[in-house]
Amino acid sequence: MAEDCLFCKIFAREIPAKEVFRDDEIVAFEDIRPVAPVHVLVIPREHIPSVHDLTASHGPMLARMFEVANGIADERKIDRDGYRIVLNKGPQAGQTVYHVHLHLLGGRAMAWPPG
Ligand code: AMP
Ligand code: ZN
Repeated sequence: MAEDCLFCKIFAREIPAKEVFRDDEIVAFEDIRPVAPVHVLVIPREHIPSVHDLTASHGPMLARMFEVANGIADERKIDRDGYRIVLNKGPQAGQTVYHVHLHLLGGRAMAWPPG
């Protein structure tokens, strides 16, 4: 756990979140400022600052993050119409929390290219 990391604190339940999934390795929760009808964040327990720090050793954990996102997409019934998974890296992409997380976005049409 990293000092002063918001998502480490959410994983440790030191800061409350509207959790939709939890196991020993992964937590998923509602984004506090949703930008789509479905906007869930999926985070690992391990403090990894960004996607750019991932290595092959993180493979099983990453697969698990996607599996959890898939399950939530099924529950919210957005799998048929489609959804978007976003991982922002750095300031130009708009990353604000430096603990790796994926955004599961769905429930509306998405523009391409993204803004
Ligand atoms: P990013 O901009 O990719 O780093 O995403 C960080 C996301 O975390 C943003 O969409 C924020 O709205 C969200 N966020 C920030 N603080 C909280 C919080 N306390 N609970 C839930 N989501 C949060
Ligand atoms: Zn962290």
